[in-house]
Amino acid sequence: MIEAGYHHAGLDARYINCDVKAASLADAVKGAKAMEWAGFNCSLPHKVAVLDHLDDIAESAKLIGAVNCVAIRDGKLIGHNTDGKGFLTSLKTVTSPTGKKVVILGAGGAARAIAVELALAGAAHITIVNRDASKAEAIAKLIRDNTDVSGDAQEWSGKFSTPAGTDILINATSIGLGDPKTVPPIDMSSLTKDTVVADVIPNPPQTRFLKEAKAIGCTTLDGLGMLVNQGVIGVEIWLGRTLDSAVMAETLETIFGTENK
Ligand code: NDP
Repeated sequence: MIEAGYHHAGLDARYINCDVKAASLADAVKGAKAMEWAGFNCSLPHKVAVLDHLDDIAESAKLIGAVNCVAIRDGKLIGHNTDGKGFLTSLKTVTSPTGKKVVILGAGGAARAIAVELALAGAAHITIVNRDASKAEAIAKLIRDNTDVSGDAQEWSGKFSTPAGTDILINATSIGLGDPKTVPPIDMSSLTKDTVVADVIPNPPQTRFLKEAKAIGCTTLDGLGMLVNQGVIGVEIWLGRTLDSAVMAETLETIFGTENK
């Protein structure tokens, strides 16, 4: 996806995948610096462990407590988190998060990144809903303690009923990943067409959750867009260039073998 963007922009750059074992992270980071890479993304299980190897961390990544994108500049390593920012970029194509009432399903890494970015972007209220309520409360507390946004947590048992007046509902669980039939347990009749409904699942992009929300008349956002956007943001951080997101989305759809329709 990134190399398709590079190619389209005429950039003489490479994006290569390296399988780094947890015990080798320090050496891998030193290697990236020694080879004068512009930077790198890091995925699980390195998103938190990489913090120990950085010279500085961007504000939202500090709050999120995880880094998925590192820039190497003048020999210094700066950590960023582009997951939530990728989501925010998608969201802003359909609505502003400012002053909005948001419900996030799930309390893992994706939920945390999205909650922090939405709070920093001025959401009015964020509710975190999770089976393990203590994880939901940890994110709600993080928001309350570090931003002006009010946050609360709800335990998820049985079918979740979306509170009246919810502007944005986000599935940030892994439900639906590689599974077009499964849907998060939600009472869909609690939704109205005024709620923007988003899913973090990139594959398949059109999850059953999004299809059902679309049938109600909701504006929907898929996780493929979020994934493309975090890639665009990473390259902006590394190279100061904005890649063509449409080219990248098309490439990703081809890789996934899906149509984003
Ligand atoms: P985590 O493992 O950190 O969190 C998973 C979350 O999903 C937890 O809150 C977990 O609840 C919840 N969950 C899982 N299964 C169920 C279920 N059956 N019922 C209710 N809740 C459930 O994962 P991440 O946050 O890192 O990733 C979540 C998803 O986001 C993944 O599918 C990933 O692919 C996607 N993602 C997409 C990105 C994009 O750019 N589009 C970027 C990053 C992630 P509990 O705590 O109770 O177990």
